[in-house]
Amino acid sequence: MNVRDRWRQHLPDFDPFSTTRLEQRRTSNAVRRLSRDHPAMGYDHLPMRNCSEVSPCRGGLCPRCVRQLRINLLDFLAANGLHRRSWHFVTVRVAGWTKAPGDCKPFGRLRNQRPVLALMAKFRRMGINNLLIFGSIETVYTTVSNVPAGKPFHLHLMISGASEEEISEAVNTSLRLDMKVPRPYEIQSVLMTEEDFFRAASYAFKQPLAKKSKASPDDYGVRQFLNPAERRELIRNYGVHGWRGRLILFGMRCENGPFRLIADLSATAKSALSSSSRKQPFRQQRQPPRGQG
Ligand SMILES: [Zn+2]
Repeated sequence: MNVRDRWRQHLPDFDPFSTTRLEQRRTSNAVRRLSRDHPAMGYDHLPMRNCSEVSPCRGGLCPRCVRQLRINLLDFLAANGLHRRSWHFVTVRVAGWTKAPGDCKPFGRLRNQRPVLALMAKFRRMGINNLLIFGSIETVYTTVSNVPAGKPFHLHLMISGASEEEISEAVNTSLRLDMKVPRPYEIQSVLMTEEDFFRAASYAFKQPLAKKSKASPDDYGVRQFLNPAERRELIRNYGVHGWRGRLILFGMRCENGPFRLIADLSATAKSALSSSSRKQPFRQQRQPPRGQG
């Protein structure tokens, strides 16, 4: 089986191309309006409208390019057999990271936010063998009972090689968690099945422009498309950035498209395969929404 078929069969709803095309048009329209209304913000430098297969724009807000980078990541994971390792899916909410409704200021620096760098530095100091991390910083336009409820920036990380205790120590000692939310951080074991792994992996790096409609604050919510005003607000919060601007990697690298392993996994590959307790299967907790894969 080729590498793409290996993950594709488990993600039948992965970023459908028809949706990507539609999102491309909606985002292009939003960017055009923003560059007219806010000429100093650099939106007119976003070359998304001319993005094509032969000359991708490599913008972090471009649905087509983000889709391609997600494909590259999943191909890389499958080609290196990383679905055979044991993984945790980690969600982190940092204090002060929620943008209020109507706040259009850029969040800035995305993956290079200080708490992200501090967390990665902590992992490095812990000297864990064969530590692998991939994921991203993202936000979502959230409504509770149809009322805008802010845009919580947060981290989704897939982590392999570290125990639940080590992950917990790193998170708790390197950054200030947002104690105002019901779940400041969550560590979920990913089942050692291809399906569970690729679903969790595709959830760790998604399209950036999304809306979540919740019935109550602690509800997981339903993913929806943004209306034009909501889309412009989110674009302004993300700011202009490249397609790797949200990607967080440890033990692997993304060189302008292709991914590559830095960590040498051959020595202790066997120990990495040993399974740990799996009390919270990923898919029972968090169904990746349709259309996002
Ligand atoms: Zn593009």
